Amino acid sequence: MAVIFRTDIITLPAEIHNFVKKRSQTEVGLNIFIEYSVDNLKDLLDILISKGIALSHLDWTKVVNGRLLLFTVIDLERSTVSLEDLISLIKDKEYVLEVTKADEFLDKFIYSRHLFPILIGDDRVVAIGPPMMEGIILYSRELLGEAASANLLYHIGYAMGKSLYEYLRDNVDRWELEDGMRFLDAVFSSYGWGRLKSYVKNGDKIIINVEDLWECEVYKDSNEEPKASLFEGCLAGFFEQFYEKRVIVRHTGCTVCGDEYCIFEVILP
Ligand SMILES: [Zn+2]
Repeated sequence: MAVIFRTDIITLPAEIHNFVKKRSQTEVGLNIFIEYSVDNLKDLLDILISKGIALSHLDWTKVVNGRLLLFTVIDLERSTVSLEDLISLIKDKEYVLEVTKADEFLDKFIYSRHLFPILIGDDRVVAIGPPMMEGIILYSRELLGEAASANLLYHIGYAMGKSLYEYLRDNVDRWELEDGMRFLDAVFSSYGWGRLKSYVKNGDKIIINVEDLWECEVYKDSNEEPKASLFEGCLAGFFEQFYEKRVIVRHTGCTVCGDEYCIFEVILP
């Protein structure tokens, strides 16, 4: 029987409001360190709004020792105060520890070096942006050739899948295929890799449908035939530990080629 992950839900992209493109000359970034309380946060936002300041971006850190950093990109176009006056107004608040203008470069980008590292849950994660995603997938193929690049990515993916399996094994006493699938969906969707849409176990074959897999999406604007060696390796690494035998993973359908999902078959020989 196929297990279907919910498809009728509203989904919206999760956005980390850092490293943003400046949309106008009147935009500026601020790092505001405060003693955290809901009232302090509200008071701070009230100040900005009352001065006619538009918040283009807003993000905040984990609270550590009662302190929180609010990073915001504001548009001063309709502001009733100058930037300098705004900063001193904020600094005057007893709960504000420090205010600094965020880093900018090329007059195009604003970012905060204080929003670091990135955590999902309690775990540190690293994000790989577009130039790096293409570097890993497309240029490794250009540098190494198609077969060697696919082989390398598969083995890196395999190690990741093995490590994911061990993480689950070490943290949970008893789990079955469906729990393992739910775990993979949690990891791949939370880390932005793609979302599992459904899977079905048919005898010695598991067919998995994946939505918006990043590895294939990299190929969207290229003329190359899409491959998902990293993801294939991940599945192989995970399921070889789970079944304690070799498995074969095939990528039998792809969104880049017009299929609704990327389809993977895990075959247990
Ligand atoms: Zn695909």
